[in-house]
Amino acid sequence: MDKLSLKMDLCGECGGCVAICAFEALDLESQGLRIKEELCIRCNDCVVFCPSGALEITDKE
Ligand code: SF4
Ligand code: SF4
Repeated sequence: MDKLSLKMDLCGECGGCVAICAFEALDLESQGLRIKEELCIRCNDCVVFCPSGALEITDKE
């Protein structure tokens, strides 16, 4: 199943993806960006938005 994943070393923690996700599937916490997989529908919006290329949808079982 597809999965949204974060390359933490690329994330500048700008918070933009948190703001644009219509499903509230992202949170910026003190440890960094957190993906709430149960809310994410893998629409790809945050992947396209991220100015750092830190998010990607990968094919994982
Ligand atoms: S938009 Fe990209 S750089 Fe900004 S918080 Fe999200 S993943 Fe990190
Ligand atoms: S893929 Fe879509 S639903 Fe999932 S976190 Fe990104 S913007 Fe939100």
